[in-house]
Amino acid sequence: MNKPTQIIPSDQFAAMAAQAAADAVSVSDARGQIEWANEAFARITGHPVDDLMGCHSAEILQGPETDRETLAAIERARAERRAIVTDILQYRADGSTYWAELHMTPVFDNQGAAIHFVTIQRDVTHRKRREVETADLIQREKHRETERQLLSQVSEWLYSAKSLEELLLVARKAMSTLIPEAEGSLYIYSESRDTLEVASAWGDNRSIDSVDPDACWALRRGRAYNFGTRAIEFACDHVGTEDHPFFCLPIVADGETIGMLHLRFTSFSLKSMDRKMLDIFINHRWNLSLLCAEQMSLAIANVRLRQVLLEKSVRDPLTNLWNRRWLVDTTNKMLAQARTGDGQLSLISIDIDHFKAFNDTFGHEAGDVVLRKSAEVMVDVARDRGAVCRAGGEEFVVLCPGMGGPQAVGLANEIREGLSALRLSSEGNRLSQITASAGVATYSRGNTASDLLRASDAALYRAKHLGRNRVVNAADLDETDDEPPPKA
Ligand code: GH3
Ligand code: MG
Ligand code: MG
Repeated sequence: MNKPTQIIPSDQFAAMAAQAAADAVSVSDARGQIEWANEAFARITGHPVDDLMGCHSAEILQGPETDRETLAAIERARAERRAIVTDILQYRADGSTYWAELHMTPVFDNQGAAIHFVTIQRDVTHRKRREVETADLIQREKHRETERQLLSQVSEWLYSAKSLEELLLVARKAMSTLIPEAEGSLYIYSESRDTLEVASAWGDNRSIDSVDPDACWALRRGRAYNFGTRAIEFACDHVGTEDHPFFCLPIVADGETIGMLHLRFTSFSLKSMDRKMLDIFINHRWNLSLLCAEQMSLAIANVRLRQVLLEKSVRDPLTNLWNRRWLVDTTNKMLAQARTGDGQLSLISIDIDHFKAFNDTFGHEAGDVVLRKSAEVMVDVARDRGAVCRAGGEEFVVLCPGMGGPQAVGLANEIREGLSALRLSSEGNRLSQITASAGVATYSRGNTASDLLRASDAALYRAKHLGRNRVVNAADLDETDDEPPPKA
C-alpha cells in the first residue's frame, strides 16, 4: 500500500520548504530517534532543536493524559513500516498540552528498506476544542431532550390527577426522578394561613413538618429564592443550616400563594465544593425547579377547579345542602358498608308542612328564606350525626350512618322542634310558624337505596295523613299505609 517515497537529501529546496513549514516536521531513524527537526517543531513543542537530537519523540512529547492506545498504534505502524495519521495529545517542554494531527510516513531507500520516518505535526488544539465543545453541546442537548420529555410526561400526569392526594403522589415521584440529588417537601398553607404544613416529602428528608411563612425568604418576598450561589445571602429560618444549597419556590394557584416547594441538596457542601462546578450545577437545577414549581402550580389550580365543579355538581345552590344526586350515590355507598359492617343505617325524610302557603302568602322570596333557614337548622341539629340533603322542593333527607330506628326518630323530632322554634321574617313580613313532618326508615338485610327511600317516604306520607307536624317510623307501618296524604 505504502509506496516508497524517494528522498532527495541533497535537494536544497525540499530542505528549505521543510524548514519554513508552519507545521512541526521531524525525521527519525527506523527506531524513532529524532535525527532532524524544523524550527516549527521547536516552536510548537518548546524544545530547542539541539536538545531533540537522538531523543525518541514519544519520550519527550507524551504525558500522563496522552492516549496509550494511540501511542501503541504509532509504534505498531513504525514496526510494520506503515504510514499513520492520527490525532494525539502531546506535552510541550513547559508541561502544557496541545493536540497534534500527526502524519508519520516511512521513507525507503533504493532497495526498499525503511530507513527513516518523516513526521509532520499540525497543532489542532482549536479544532479539537471545538470538537469537544460540540460533543458537549450534543450531550447537553440530549440531556435536555430527555428532561423535556420527562417534564412533559410529568405535566401530563399532573394534569390527569383528579384529587390533591393523587397530585401529591405524582409530584413526589416526578421530583425524585427529575432532580434526584435533592430531598424535597411540598408545603401547603393551613386553613388559617398562619403556617404551612408538609403535604408531601421525598428523598432522605430532614425538613420540618410545618413552616412559619415569616421564616421563608421566598414567602416573605413573594418570589422563588435560591441559597448557595451569591456572595451575600441568608438562609431561611426553617432550613436552619447554611451548609447546603437549597431552593424555596412559592406555589401559586389562581393568583394566590397556596404553598411552597422546598428542595435541599444535602449531599453538596457549600464549604468544600468547587464554586464554579456548584454554580453550573445549581443554575441548571434552578431552571428545572422553576419549571416544576410552575407545572405544580397549574396542576393544583386545575385540581381545585375540578373539585369546585365536582362540589357544585353535588350541592344544591339555594341551601348549599347535598343534592339528590349525592344522596343516591352516598346511600348506595353507605348501604355497601352497612352490608359488610354491622348494618346500621337510617334515613329521615322531612317535608315542610303547607309550604306552598309561604309562597302564596308572602311571595316566592319568603319561601326561599324558609328553605335556607330550615336547612341551617337541620345541619345544625344533625351536626355529626347525619348528612342533610335537599331531595327536591321542600323535601329533605337526613342520612344517618351507624344509627338505628329509635335514635333516628329522636333526631327527627329534634329537627322538627328546631324548625318549629324558628321565627322568620321576609321583606318586613313576619312569617308564620314552620312545622314539618318526617318519616324514618332503617336498613334491614336486602334493602336497596330505593327501598329505603320509598319506606321513609311512606312513613312521611303517614305522618302527613295523621295530621302533620309529627314523626313516623316506617317500622311501625303496615302494608296498607303506603298511600298519598290528604290535602288538609
Ligand atoms: P304538604 O304539607 O302536603 O307538604 O303541602 P306543601 O304545600 O308543603 O306541598 P306542595 O307539594 O303542595 O307544595 C310545595 C311547593 O313548594 C310547590 C312549589 O312551588 C314550592 N317550591 C318548590 N321548590 C321551591 C323553591 O326552591 N323555592 C320556593 N320558594 N318554592 C319552592
Ligand atoms: Mg310540604
Ligand atoms: Mg312536598
